[in-house]
Amino acid sequence: MLIDTHCHIHESDYPIHGDDVIERAHNAGVMQMICIGTNISDSQLAIDFASKYDRVFASIGVHPHYADNDGDKLRRLVGLLYSTENQQKLVAIGEIGLDYHYSDSPSPENQSKLLKQQIELALEHDLPIIFHVREAYDDFWKVLDSFKDDGRQIRGVLHCFTDTIDNLNEGLRRGFYISVNGISTFTKDNVQKSMFASIPIDKLLLETDAPWLIPNPLRGKVKTNEPAFIREIAEFNSTIYNLSFDEIADVTTANARKLFKL
Ligand SMILES: [Zn+2]
Repeated sequence: MLIDTHCHIHESDYPIHGDDVIERAHNAGVMQMICIGTNISDSQLAIDFASKYDRVFASIGVHPHYADNDGDKLRRLVGLLYSTENQQKLVAIGEIGLDYHYSDSPSPENQSKLLKQQIELALEHDLPIIFHVREAYDDFWKVLDSFKDDGRQIRGVLHCFTDTIDNLNEGLRRGFYISVNGISTFTKDNVQKSMFASIPIDKLLLETDAPWLIPNPLRGKVKTNEPAFIREIAEFNSTIYNLSFDEIADVTTANARKLFKL
């Protein structure tokens, strides 16, 4: 059995009907999946979608692209966290983080502020965090360091990790899981390939990030990524780790269950 730890199949413009996506995932051995919120309304959608299907869980959070210093967002996020009907389906805070890739993104100050506030919420609720960090690891480590005398452990995963070996090692040193997706199957960058190969298996999680990042060998053949394609990502990575398909499925599923208490 496999788990898709990061997908966006709940979004209103996702082109495949929920019933079909879940059935296809099931037929591919992908028994559980986590729908990831990126802002307040999207987080609500993720919870609503998850509540319709036994196998689906949700995370809630405000992505750095929406870090516009609007205090109301945090208040509404807290509302979602405290709503008792959400408790069974809510397994994480995320995706939250820092993203400096686009020049029109909210300022680094606003991004850091919102990230800190959301880490604080995760700590208060003892939830793991799904981090989205792009071209911003130096500042990201600083934000985490601001919690270092806190005494509580920040648990989580660095999602869609494609950064340097140094930042991989820093993430591992801090106890984070590392999540890989279709990029691991199609990158031609040798530095990136050797980085992927050096992720310790006991810290590896698999994700599709559907609808984006269709893995090989399906790339170019289908239009939309979906949780069923975790199978291709597992198959490709099993050869890197010299494991059988079942072995990599077992280990990554156990890792996901441990982090998200699935
Ligand atoms: Zn995502």
